[in-house]
Amino acid sequence: MKKMIAGNWKMNGSLDEVVALMTALGDGLKASPELIDRADFVVSPSYIHLALAQSMLPEGVHLGAQDCSMRPNGAFTGDISAKMLEDMACQYVILGHSERRQHHGETNDIVAAKAKAAHDANLKTIICVGETEAEREEGRQDVVVIDQLRKSLPEGVRVDNTVIAYEPVWAIGTGKTPTAEDVEAIHATIRACLKEKLDNPDSMRILYGGSVKPENAAILLTIKNVDGALVGGASLKADQFLAIAAAATA
Ligand code: PEP
Repeated sequence: MKKMIAGNWKMNGSLDEVVALMTALGDGLKASPELIDRADFVVSPSYIHLALAQSMLPEGVHLGAQDCSMRPNGAFTGDISAKMLEDMACQYVILGHSERRQHHGETNDIVAAKAKAAHDANLKTIICVGETEAEREEGRQDVVVIDQLRKSLPEGVRVDNTVIAYEPVWAIGTGKTPTAEDVEAIHATIRACLKEKLDNPDSMRILYGGSVKPENAAILLTIKNVDGALVGGASLKADQFLAIAAAATA
């Protein structure tokens, strides 16, 4: 399966920084055009920077958002609908990121409702699951992740409208990563769980996310059932983002 390297810019960047990052990404891909054949790229700026990023999107790079409303339209001040994102040429939306679950109280039911709204608007979803450090220490990671998956995937989930991102909460932005054995084990668990919902579970991408850097990408992203990465911090530096793709697909 072609790897996906998806960047989550979170609440970062100014207009100047977005221009600089998109320029560097475009230059980097021009210098290494083979990367476009080897990986599918997604960048996910903040809502307010989507239009600018879209206007500078290099060929082969897709645009993603970091969230969307579960509702189609109406009196929901401050919210952004999936259809609005689709209008902005977004193809992907990240849903259920642990920072949304933690800071915005997003439950599995909310994630599923948002995913349904996104699919209805023809967006592809990147649905995040992952255990906390305490849950990992208690050895509950499989139970937690399976429960999140079962409840966060909406009716109508298909391999061509959904990507799973396994992101252990304790690995996000910390520099800590699970061992290769642990990643392999939980990705196999996720793959097995997808059989409950899909006829062709082997074709659904399962990304790993959590402190992916150029230095660890070759190890983490070549593990069985790891079909790419969701990258936070390192996606803000074009050279690192592209180096991750190069290492993952060498
Ligand atoms: C993320 O926020 O999805 C993430 C994986 O962040 P980082 O790469 O910085 O750990």
